[in-house]
Amino acid sequence: MSLHISTPLVESRALSKICNKSIWLKLEAVQPVGSFKIRGIGFACERLAAQGKTRFVSSSGGNAGLAVSYAGRMLSIPVTVVVPENTSTRAILLIREQGADVIVHGASWQEANSMAQALLKEEDGFLHPFDDPDLWQGHASMIDEINAAGVRPDGIVLSVGGGGLFAGVAKGLARNGLPDVPIITAETAGAASLARSVTAGKRITLDTIDTIATSLGAKRVCERAYELATTRDVRCVEVEDRDALRAVHTFLDDHRLLVEPACGASLALAYDNHPVLAPLETIIVIVCGGAGVAEATLSQWDNSLRDYA
Ligand SMILES: *Cc1c(COP(=O)(O)O)cnc(C)c1O
Repeated sequence: MSLHISTPLVESRALSKICNKSIWLKLEAVQPVGSFKIRGIGFACERLAAQGKTRFVSSSGGNAGLAVSYAGRMLSIPVTVVVPENTSTRAILLIREQGADVIVHGASWQEANSMAQALLKEEDGFLHPFDDPDLWQGHASMIDEINAAGVRPDGIVLSVGGGGLFAGVAKGLARNGLPDVPIITAETAGAASLARSVTAGKRITLDTIDTIATSLGAKRVCERAYELATTRDVRCVEVEDRDALRAVHTFLDDHRLLVEPACGASLALAYDNHPVLAPLETIIVIVCGGAGVAEATLSQWDNSLRDYA
């Protein structure tokens, strides 16, 4: 039994008209915990359960930690998530709602992660949010579904944080005989760890993360992501926070789905008919979703970005 669902693949009339192309949406926002993460995390958790692990441990206060908590509940395996002090009360509530133990520790993710590592016992399974081949294999299932639906894209747009989604989509394309389909990666400028690495010609670590798209906030992408970006057809794009946020609003109006700015970054490329799309006719945008957004958070972001304008 898989822990994720097969998601709808729908053509967006609104975006197709803006771009004068055929724009399709893979609606990962409707997954049980609101994002694609459950595909890879669910796959990895099932493997760990089969290996006899009796507890799952995570250090993500975001969608990965939430997916681990959901997977643990579905598999009747206890989950402990260690999150840093700056994690939102809402995120902690959502994880606790799944029945997981949440330990709040440390000023940064590094400290929370160190504690999570120190907690690990022989019979525990640790779930990394993006750097794990099992995760990529699970994420790849979204491409199996797209292939089965018979839609042949000229390009796929997706958001990049640490690069797990990217590695999974690349894997999915390869295993469906579509290794040459270009991947367009979207990052916000304050979290552009992949685009900046490609420009630098080496995998770099960002000094700081400065974006409302917190789910993209990995200072360094995984090695696999950098390798893919330099060996297959990948086109990296950076967008501004305000464009990602505008896309979130317009997408809510057009498709009645509320997604994080992390997902808005990908949607912004289509809403702005970005030049990177020009040579492509049929495009699939991975609507990665995200549970870290609510009506109240949206207006906070609106206000914070207004101050910059
Ligand atoms: C995790 C996440 C991302 C980024 O995925 P990576 O695998 O870290 O690149 C993007 N959007 C949402 C909503 C996420 O939860």
